[in-house]
Amino acid sequence: MTTTLTGELLIGARAIRGEGAAFQAIDAASNAPIAQPVFHSAQQGDVDQACELADAAFDTYRTLSADKRAQFLDDCAARIEALGDQLIERAMAESGLPRARLEGERARTANQLRMFATLVRSGDALDVRIEPALPERQPPRTDLRFWRIGVGPVAVFGASNFPLAFSVAGGDTASALAAGCPVVVKSHPAHPGTSELVGRAIQQAVAAAGLPAGVFSLLFDAGHEVGSALVQHPAIRAVGFTGSRTGGLALVKLAAARTEPIPVYAEMSSVNPNLLLPAALAARGETLARDFAASATLGCGQFCTNPGLMLGLAGEDFDAFAASAAREFSAAPAGVMLTPGILRAYEQGIGRLVEHPKVTTLARGAAAPGRAQAALLRVRASDLLADAALGEEVFGPCSMLVECADEAELRAVLRFIEGQLTITLHADAADGNLVRALLPLIERKAGRLLANGFPTGVEVCDAMVHGGPFPATADGRSTSVGTAAIERFLRPVCYQNLADGWLPDALRDANPLHVKRRFAGKPEAV
Ligand code: NAP
Repeated sequence: MTTTLTGELLIGARAIRGEGAAFQAIDAASNAPIAQPVFHSAQQGDVDQACELADAAFDTYRTLSADKRAQFLDDCAARIEALGDQLIERAMAESGLPRARLEGERARTANQLRMFATLVRSGDALDVRIEPALPERQPPRTDLRFWRIGVGPVAVFGASNFPLAFSVAGGDTASALAAGCPVVVKSHPAHPGTSELVGRAIQQAVAAAGLPAGVFSLLFDAGHEVGSALVQHPAIRAVGFTGSRTGGLALVKLAAARTEPIPVYAEMSSVNPNLLLPAALAARGETLARDFAASATLGCGQFCTNPGLMLGLAGEDFDAFAASAAREFSAAPAGVMLTPGILRAYEQGIGRLVEHPKVTTLARGAAAPGRAQAALLRVRASDLLADAALGEEVFGPCSMLVECADEAELRAVLRFIEGQLTITLHADAADGNLVRALLPLIERKAGRLLANGFPTGVEVCDAMVHGGPFPATADGRSTSVGTAAIERFLRPVCYQNLADGWLPDALRDANPLHVKRRFAGKPEAV
C-alpha cells in the first residue's frame, strides 16, 4: 500500500500543516526540487505541543511492561519494512544513495529496533542491584535497591548521511524509545519525504499499541529555529545528534545555557587515522592501497568512519603505497553527494588543502559538474604538526597521506591529533612490539581500535563503540551504535528502605520479572 505524503508535521496522533516557511525536498542527483509534497516548517507553538505531549506520555510509557515496549519496537521495525519500495525510492531520490546501500540501511534500521526490543525483554539494561538491610551491622544499614529509568523526552536530529539508520527511527530514536523515553525528531531537511514515511509508520505503531500519542512526534524545519527551540524546551531531557561540528557545538552550547542544562550526545567530526606499520606495508602495500581507496571513496566518502588520515614511516614502501593509492583514486568516478551544501563544503575543504603550500596533490578522481571529485593528498608529519587544520575532517571522498620521519614523529602525530571515532592498525606479526607500544596512546584517542581492516562499516551489536573523545563526540563516555547506546538515555535511581510492596516489580524480593540482578554484591540466581 502506498502512503500519501502530505508534508505535515506529526505531533502525537495528529498530522498538522506547519505555519512556518515552506520547502521542498531536492533530488540529490539532479539538484531539482521534488514536486510533491511541499513541507511546512514547524513553529514555536508546534515545538511546545510536541514536547508537552512527550512529557505527558513519559510516565505511562516508561512504566509499560517490558514485553509491551519490546512489541512496540518490533512493530516499528515491521511497519518500516512494510513501506517497501516506496521508502527505498524516496530515499534514493532525496539522498542520491544507491538502492543496495539503502536496502542494507533499511535492514540495519529494522534489526536495530529488534535488537533493542530483545534488550528490553532481557531487563539487562535496568542494571538492578540490591543491597539488603544489615540490621546487625554497626551502624546498621537499611535496604538499598538500584536500577535505571529513562531520563525523559529526548530530542533527536536525523543525520543527512544515514537517512534511515541514523534518522527518524535510527539508532538514537531506537535507543531512547527502548530506554522508555518519548522522542521528538527534528527531521533532516535533506530527506523530508523519507522522514515522513518512517514517521507515519511509527505514529501508526504508537496508535496500534494503545500508547499515549506523545511517545513520538516529527517536526520539519527549513532552518535552525525548530532545532534550537527543541533543545531549549524544558521538557526535553537529552539530545541525540549526528552532523557537523558547528551544528553539534551550537546545540551543546544551547543545552548548557538552559536553566536546567541537559546532555547533548553529538557525533561530529573524525578523520579515523590508519597506521601503516612497517612489516605490513612491506608485505602487502599494494593490497592495502587498493582496499584503502575502496574504503575512502565508498558512498562518495560520506561516512563518519571514512579513513581520512593514513600515517606511515618515510621510505620506499610508503612511496610505493602512495603511488598505488594514487592510481586507485585517479580511477574513482565522480560521485553524487547528499546535498548541494555538503558538496559545496567538500569543494571548499579540498580547495583549502590543495592550495596549501605544504600539501601535495597525489591524485584527483574523475570530474563532472555537480559531482564530487575524489582527492588523495600528501603531507609531511612535521607540516601537519605545525598546522592542525591539515588534519581536520573534509567530509567526502578524500584522504591525506602523512609521511612520518620516524617512530618518534608517528607518536608525536598521534599525541597531536584530536579525538577520533576509530584508529586502525595495519600490522603484521613483526610489527607486534610497535603495536604494543602504540596501544596506550591510541586508546586515549579513539572509541574503536581496529587491526587489519577498514573502519567504514559499523557492526550493530553488544560490543560496538561508535563514539570517542571530543570532537568525535561531544561526550566520549558513550556510544551511539550498539546496545550500550541505551545508557545515554537512562539514569540511576536508588530506593532506600522502601517496603517490598512499594517497589517496582524488577526490584521486589520475589523477582517476578526474572530480571538478572546483583544481590549483596554477587549475581543472583534467577
Ligand atoms: P549539519 O549542518 O550539522 O546539520 C545537522 C542537523 O542539525 C540538521 O537538522 C540541521 O538543521 C541542524 N542544525 C545544524 N546547525 C544547527 C544550529 N546551529 N542550530 C540548530 N540546528 C542546527 O550537518 P549536515 O547538514 O548533515 O551536513 C553538513 C556537514 O556536516 C557536512 O559537510 C559534514 O562536514 C558534516 N557531517 C558529518 C557527519 C559525520 O558523521 N561526521 C555526518 C553528516 C554530516 P538545518 O539543516 O535545518 O539547519
